[in-house]
Amino acid sequence: MADSTDNDTGPQCDNCGDAVTESTNRRVVTTLEDGEAAYNNFCGDGCLEEWRA
Ligand SMILES: [Zn+2]
Repeated sequence: MADSTDNDTGPQCDNCGDAVTESTNRRVVTTLEDGEAAYNNFCGDGCLEEWRA
């Protein structure tokens, strides 16, 4: 990994693409992809439920 990008933007909602910040009703879901843990961030329960549907 030679990329030196700054991650100031933080995580984005995996359903709607909005920035997920500490002030939102953030939801983090851990899933297993090919045996490795992956984290999905959502800006709220609504997006989490849509994503799961
Ligand atoms: Zn969202």
